Amino acid sequence: MIYLVCSPNEVSGAATVSPLRKGNRDLIKEINRNLALNLIKSRGPISRSEIARLSGLSPATVSGITADFIASGLIEETAEGESTGGRPPVLLRLNPQAGFVVGVKLMEQAVISALTDLDAQVLHQHVTPLTVDDGRRSKASMDDGRVNPESILPVIIRAIEETIAESRVERRRLLGLGVGLAGLVDGEAGICRYSPFFGWRDVALAEPIAEHFDLPVYLENDVNTLTIAEQWFGYGHGVDHFVVITVGRGIGAGIVANGQFYRGALGGAGEVGHMTVQEDGPICHCGKRGCLEALASDPAVVREAQAAIARKEPTTLAQSETLTLEAIVAAAEAGDDLARRLLADAGHWLGIGIAALVNILNPQLIIVGGEGVHAGQWRIGPMRQAVRAHAFNGLADQLDMVIEPS
Ligand SMILES: [Zn+2]
Repeated sequence: MIYLVCSPNEVSGAATVSPLRKGNRDLIKEINRNLALNLIKSRGPISRSEIARLSGLSPATVSGITADFIASGLIEETAEGESTGGRPPVLLRLNPQAGFVVGVKLMEQAVISALTDLDAQVLHQHVTPLTVDDGRRSKASMDDGRVNPESILPVIIRAIEETIAESRVERRRLLGLGVGLAGLVDGEAGICRYSPFFGWRDVALAEPIAEHFDLPVYLENDVNTLTIAEQWFGYGHGVDHFVVITVGRGIGAGIVANGQFYRGALGGAGEVGHMTVQEDGPICHCGKRGCLEALASDPAVVREAQAAIARKEPTTLAQSETLTLEAIVAAAEAGDDLARRLLADAGHWLGIGIAALVNILNPQLIIVGGEGVHAGQWRIGPMRQAVRAHAFNGLADQLDMVIEPS
């Protein structure tokens, strides 16, 4: 695995350096520090020699960097690792109490915020309902029905303020804020390029929040944030090739390849919900036809149930006052054939989509999460079958699949 982007030899440059050269040296030092810190975060507890091996940095450089980190309290030494002959190595890990962060998930109907330590332990969680539908009919809505970001930003800021206040963590101990939302997100620029739920195009979300709190704010697609969390703290920890798929109102994926999180050219890698799986299939909310999301998401199951009821197919669902995925799952569990068939169809299509990912990326691990996972065996069983049936020979044999309800 190659993490190295600059030769560490360049760090020990000539005795006299031009201002430009000095700038390069500082940049390289910063890159090397980030390399080491990322390895400690994603691979820790980890020995200094392993950091040197994986990063390509010299042992002396790693020793200097980690000494700085320990002095500043950012990392700490833990129990000794296994010896491979000589003295057992001391392992390093992030100091969970070195600082705190607030993470925000911006959903269609709620802002969920949580204050955590650096080990992702949630110290306090806060849910703020978001009445976007009301907003669409009120001044929060723009002329074309899009939700005005000006109406959402104060809600996000208030949610973060309340989370910090209720957690009783001192504000000066906060290191940064993170905001995740569905859609196409330019994380580097802090701009939401496209939000399907809010109808946004090119909305700068990070900057106003950063200005308010005087803290760095990281904006990212919500499935990508989940994938990074899995890589740092979850099932993906130490796994070089894995994919996270979320199923619920939509379908999305986050990709880790060669140990690196993969964003794609515009940050849109993993929009698997909109890969065409049935050319003449149902219309998707993105405007195209036959997307995976239009066949395998929760709303797709509900839509098919409504259509079946309209066709007078025999089902207990016809008596349901409000047709929801929960009602369909309950009917399936009570023995309703239509409910079982619809969930199985959705699971089958999801498996087709996952098999395509397996064939392209050859991951070791697939983590399936999201609200849709609650549909349980009726959906997941057919999903597994379809993955086995459609993945290229041998690729599914070594594949681990983890189902992780949100
Ligand atoms: Zn679509």
